[in-house]
Amino acid sequence: MTGFPKSPMKNHLMVGLNANGNIHIIVGTNSIAAGRCSQSLGAGARPILIGPDTSDVDFGLQRKINEGLVQWIKRDFEEQDLFCLGRDDVGGVVDAVFITDSASHPQSSKISELCRYSRIPVNAIDAPHLCTFTLLSTYTDGPLQIGVTTNGRGCRLAGRIRRAVVSSLPPNLGAACERLGAVRRSLNPMSVTIPGEWDDCTEQSQLLNRIKTGEDAKERQIRWLAQVCEYWPLNRLAAITDADIDAVMTPWSSSSLPTKRKCETEVEIIPVKTGRIILAGSGPGHPDLITHATYKAIQTADLVIADKLVPSSILNLIPCRTPVHIARKFPGNAAAAQKEIEMLAIDGVQSGKVVLRLKQGDPFVYGRGGEEVITFQRLGLGSRVTTIPGITSALGAPLLAGIPVTHRGAADQVLICTGTIQDGKSPIPPEYVPSRTVVYLMALHRIKDLVQDLVYGGTARERMIERDAGRTLWPLDTPCAVVERGSCPDQRVIRSTLEYITEAVDAVGSRPPGLLMLGATCHILGGRSTHPWVVEEGFQEFMAHDGCTWMRG
Ligand code: SAH
Repeated sequence: MTGFPKSPMKNHLMVGLNANGNIHIIVGTNSIAAGRCSQSLGAGARPILIGPDTSDVDFGLQRKINEGLVQWIKRDFEEQDLFCLGRDDVGGVVDAVFITDSASHPQSSKISELCRYSRIPVNAIDAPHLCTFTLLSTYTDGPLQIGVTTNGRGCRLAGRIRRAVVSSLPPNLGAACERLGAVRRSLNPMSVTIPGEWDDCTEQSQLLNRIKTGEDAKERQIRWLAQVCEYWPLNRLAAITDADIDAVMTPWSSSSLPTKRKCETEVEIIPVKTGRIILAGSGPGHPDLITHATYKAIQTADLVIADKLVPSSILNLIPCRTPVHIARKFPGNAAAAQKEIEMLAIDGVQSGKVVLRLKQGDPFVYGRGGEEVITFQRLGLGSRVTTIPGITSALGAPLLAGIPVTHRGAADQVLICTGTIQDGKSPIPPEYVPSRTVVYLMALHRIKDLVQDLVYGGTARERMIERDAGRTLWPLDTPCAVVERGSCPDQRVIRSTLEYITEAVDAVGSRPPGLLMLGATCHILGGRSTHPWVVEEGFQEFMAHDGCTWMRG
């Protein structure tokens, strides 16, 4: 954290304004006026240029005037222009005014004053004190728009940052937005299950991973689409194919799965040629954290079947020639998706392929790795399975968040547990042991209930059936932390106490995948604060020396 005092100036509210059919006045005829006319036309508005006749009008602007796209009123601005030139349906009041003369021009401040008095949005070039809105440095690719502002600190810098952001994106992302938008529209918006999912809202709600039972096929399609948008690597989304879209649209139910193999109970020995299955962990996310063995498997496999949590930085290591299937797993359909994965793997092995089942973290830590091995054994493929460990997020993410899971004098034991068990049920919470660090995976979508359970005990009914009998409850001031996307560039750590952690997660939104940690070690290397919570953004590259940015709640 740097020692610079915070600027008292508040940042702007960034919005996407629907200017379709609006009427914009552009005062002046210089090259900036030409730019404003283009921006106005690009947003579907009608620009009216006001300025005395002159021979040195910008070439492009003159062309637009000749083509009738821009109307030019050849005189100085007059006050009544604001109230007569606009749309009939709003009584002739114009929708926005752009002043392109310099701020020192006598009419600039007068026009700004008139507009502000009449609540007409006004923008003046290089004169923030005359503006009620400013324009962003923008990039447009079809329906995708990216805007950058430095809030008046430096327009050149804003342009530079915009270019840097855009250059990091895969091509065709706009087309992908169009395509996925069409799929989304084709699904009935009335059956939306995830609030906020249909807005370009800033943060993902933690409801994305909440388990729902009794969803119909359409709701599952919507869910899967949301999961694809959240978890698929951007370059995969940008290159989304018709087959991918079909997969999203295929009604999803366990009964729709191929039934030719018996996986769960019956033993069926399948004759196999030369195929193999490699069950490997890919670590918490950063490509430097995969083992050399997993890397070699990625490079040599004939087919990769990856879990949805395996991030793009890892998937990018897969050679282009290798087909990749990403598991269609989302809360509520885990069992059906698991079956589909197993079928694909078995088909691959049977046809002589080396199939890499790439799992996030370690395959045997809440990864269903053991179940998959049992399935393959039942089918007589046991000798063809190789397992490769990975760094589990349960231990890797805390370290990268600066939290030692054990620490002399603070914690001599660590417990890894889950916030969700089969069918979305809630597991019995661990009891409070002062010298224990608890790492909770798959817990953030139900953090409120979980904290309630830890601090106050279960529901009245649960207490009655003595599920919680004798369990020591957790003190409200227990240090805790949420570590999200550990080892990824957008890693985030929220440090707080059990008293405030739910409020903190509500306030900053969710960035899956993430885990919850409890215990004294959460604050041992820093993050203690008088504020109810502290948010640390960013991941410090292993070989770099950049600091983190800090935000206080
Ligand atoms: N086998 C995996 C865990 C799978 S369970 C492993 O060993 O890491 C999935 C849960 O892991 C998520 O719900 C989340 O709690 C946690 N998780 C996975 N990746 C994470 C990451 N990069 N940062 C923080 N938590 C992560």
